[in-house]
This record gives sequence, C-alpha cells and structure tokens, in this order.
Amino acid sequence: MAHILLHIPVMKMQHTLQNVIEFSGIGLHTGCPVNVRILPSDADTGIRFLRKDLPGSPFIKAVSANVISTSYATTIGSRGASVSTIEHLMAAFYGLGVDNAIVELDGPEVPIMDGSAADFIAMMESTGLEALPALRQYLVIKKPIRVSEDDKYIYLLPADDMEFTIDYSIDFAHTFLNKQSFARLFSRDTFTKELGSARTFGFLKDVETLRANGLARGGSLENAIVISDNSILNEGGLRYPDEFVRHKVLDMMGDLALVGAPVIGHLVAYRSGHSLNHKLAQKVLSLSGRWELTDSLMDKEPVAIMPALLDKLATA
Ligand SMILES: [Zn+2]
Repeated sequence: MAHILLHIPVMKMQHTLQNVIEFSGIGLHTGCPVNVRILPSDADTGIRFLRKDLPGSPFIKAVSANVISTSYATTIGSRGASVSTIEHLMAAFYGLGVDNAIVELDGPEVPIMDGSAADFIAMMESTGLEALPALRQYLVIKKPIRVSEDDKYIYLLPADDMEFTIDYSIDFAHTFLNKQSFARLFSRDTFTKELGSARTFGFLKDVETLRANGLARGGSLENAIVISDNSILNEGGLRYPDEFVRHKVLDMMGDLALVGAPVIGHLVAYRSGHSLNHKLAQKVLSLSGRWELTDSLMDKEPVAIMPALLDKLATA
C-alpha cells in the first residue's frame, strides 16, 4: 500500500523559567560585586534587565537597538542606565530556549562567574523551564546577509533545513590559538555540552593596558583563561583543546540573541567579535526583506500516513 508523506509543521511555545534564580558574583570589567535575581516573565516580553540599585529601577530590554558599547563586552543601556557583559547570560537564555525573563541586578555588570555560561545553564536547568501560552517566532533567513570589518566577516545564509548551523573560525597570531574552527548543527544539546562551559580568554600582555583603561578589574585565573607568550597560566589547563573558538561561538550566540528571535539559517564567521556580531544583528533587523518571521517550523522527518488514515482526517 502506498504511503503519503506529510511534513508536519512543528509549533513551539515560548518559554520562561519555572522559578526565581538568585546568584552573586563580580563583574569582569568593573570588578563590582553584583547580586542577581532572574524572574519568570510573561509571553512576548522578551529578556529585560532591571537595575534595582538605580532610582525608579529602570528596565533595559535586551535588544540590538539598546546596545551602547561592544568594547571587550556587550553593554546595553537606555535612559542613562546600563548593564554590561550581558553576552554569556544571553547565550544561556538563547541556547536553552528561554524567551522571556527579567534579570534584576543591583550593579552595572552581569557577574562573570567562571568566565563561561556553565553556572547560568546549571541554574536554569535545575529550576526548569515553563511553557507559556504563546507561540515562539523564528527568524528564517531567506537571502544572504553579510557584514565585514577588515579581514573579519560574518555571513548569514539561508539553511537547507529549518535549522541553525554555525561554522566559526578564529585565527590569532599566537602559538596556542592560531587557527581553530567549530562547525555544528546548533541544538540545546550542542549548546550545553560543547559550548556552555567554554571560558573567556585574554592575553597576559594586554592585562596592564586593559586595567589602565578601567577594564578587566575583576579578571583573574578564576574567571578567564590567561595566555602568556608560551603557556596557559591556569593550573587546570583548558576544558577543550579548542576552548577559544568555542567561547567565541558562545559570545556570538549571546550577541545574536539580541535580534529578538531564534535564527534559522547558516552562519559562517571568521575572526568575529562583539562589534561585528552587533553589526550583524543590526543589519539583519534593517534588511527585513531578507528574512521572514514564522511560528511553525517544518518537521525534518516527514510522517508517513496511510491513505485510509488520510480519509479519516479529511472527514473528521
Ligand atoms: Zn565572552
């Protein structure tokens, strides 16, 4: 008997956290101790940061239009209030599929924790996610979008399947991290197992300059990989041989989250960083003819339906 193959649209609900998450830590750049509470939030409210320590507790929505600096970290701000180094927390929301949440802070910077998104992921996974009564919108790339800066570039291309794939390469003039590439189909599993615990890194030779410019004040071997001319200063070494490129992918996810919807497409990046990532997010939003928003993704595996069942469905 002949079977008829049907592609069933997959509808995915928006999610928030089931419960409040609380943690404390210091900011990588400001060195400030900060207490954070992440609260569940309603559908279609997105990720919002709230500066509890400022008069009127101003909200800053985590969207590309509110990015005010991309120097060594991604900072958002509006009406005089700002929150910096949001990228690893944003990556955790994006990677786990948390669409809506309120991040309450009593300081200017998201704590750096261990330099990766591992703690954020662990806390979110242990509290669990809650589905909300609204469909998630996906941003599906239909035509290529490209940004570049000197020899650095990012392409966002239409994907063959309704998926997000990433192909990221770095190339530093350094013994330890000259050329590294990371190419994967992006999934919650890839994110938590292969990207989430990759730490931020810096060069010992830059530490003094950074500090002179008021940056990396909270930086230490507890929250960053520090690389000297011929060694890695962290006692335990690396978590993955290619931890550097994995961290750059993590940063990219956090910055891409600021377009406001999960992206379906194929991303190819070479030597990118926060500034170029932000340029990409802005360009995507400005070229609305090159993508579409949809709340239904076609299932990759078509479902075989027998004609008899199809008759039943037609008359139901
Ligand atoms: Zn980072």
